[in-house]
Amino acid sequence: MIEEMARSFVGELKTTLIHEIIHGLGFYLSGTLSNIQDNKILPVDESVVDLTNAVYLPLCYYNSDKKRITESKNTQELDDYVQNIEIVSFAPLNIFQKYIVDLVYKKPIFDKLGYLHDEFKCFDHIKQSEWANGENIKCYNNLSAETKQNISEIALNYFSQYKSIGFKTNNGTIVPLQTFDNIFAPSASVGHVAVHYLDVAFELMSQGLPLPEELFDESKNYLLYTEENIEKYVDNNFLMYYLATNATNEVLMKTVAQGNKHDLIGPGIVDILTTLGWTEKDEERAQDMYYVADDVIVTELTVDVLNIKKFELDSKAGIANEQPFFPLPTDQPISSVPIDQPVSTAPIDQPTATAVVKQPIATSVDGQVSETGTDDDQPIEIDAGEFPLILESESDSE
Ligand SMILES: [Zn+2]
Repeated sequence: MIEEMARSFVGELKTTLIHEIIHGLGFYLSGTLSNIQDNKILPVDESVVDLTNAVYLPLCYYNSDKKRITESKNTQELDDYVQNIEIVSFAPLNIFQKYIVDLVYKKPIFDKLGYLHDEFKCFDHIKQSEWANGENIKCYNNLSAETKQNISEIALNYFSQYKSIGFKTNNGTIVPLQTFDNIFAPSASVGHVAVHYLDVAFELMSQGLPLPEELFDESKNYLLYTEENIEKYVDNNFLMYYLATNATNEVLMKTVAQGNKHDLIGPGIVDILTTLGWTEKDEERAQDMYYVADDVIVTELTVDVLNIKKFELDSKAGIANEQPFFPLPTDQPISSVPIDQPVSTAPIDQPTATAVVKQPIATSVDGQVSETGTDDDQPIEIDAGEFPLILESESDSE
């Protein structure tokens, strides 16, 4: 029973590990969305419902020092240090992004943004304290009208539109990537294969039909695909869904993964990895040449370290930790709960995954982020139309 419940939330350990390793091999989105609002650039997560002023921003690197953070003795000392952390550079597009195409026109959506990181040089040396008070908007305003339009289109036409983009592999196939209507979920959007079950659910909803009872067992509060029904809802690239598939690997191997050449790793994912430059086992070595951009200063991402330290120091001092501590605009974003969507974005790489009750698609695969946003640990009930969800306040961390 407990094993079944655990699996319904995060899948099997082996599946989770392979999923995360594949992210590590380059299957991820670099950069995120931010909102331009009241002369400020604010981070976007699942809780932001108005994305009309959202734009794509490249990932930025800071000069923060992990050791300095972990050695802070109290909250004040840490806060003071953080205020002086500066942006040192922006990351170029990663290889994954270069193959993201519009699902209708099959054209790369980032093709005009290859030098975006250079255009963002104006932001270099902006301190965290200045970022928070809107100093950065001057730099944003200095971007060319064309660039502003392009980064806005990425946000509006693609990253916040359901089923709008895919990864075009070297053999011409396109693997649809996960996006949602009017929501950008940093832990789920773009860097995952589109969950097939959502298509099925949306199709039923559009016809005014109820969701199948077989996936909606109120008595158990958890869901498991069975050998009999799984092929209706899951395709062979399930490994890179942001939602875990809830089935045992044994069931997966007997059904949707049956024809896979590499067990749990479906053909679309293999094609994506070889397109990124990896060599498939027993196949000829890839001939692509890659050049490392050595003019970009790359620093270690320290947001998670910072948030953990902040939490530790606050707890010690008896301070309630309610605010996201380090809401940096283009680093790991802070997330909360998804709204108006029959989905949850709970993390697979976290043992304390989100509890999803009365929901057709339990679980999760992974994400980034730090806890916060809610006043307590009580589940939050959200009216999501036909999908009554009860979600715990959640956190993820890629
Ligand atoms: Zn993932």
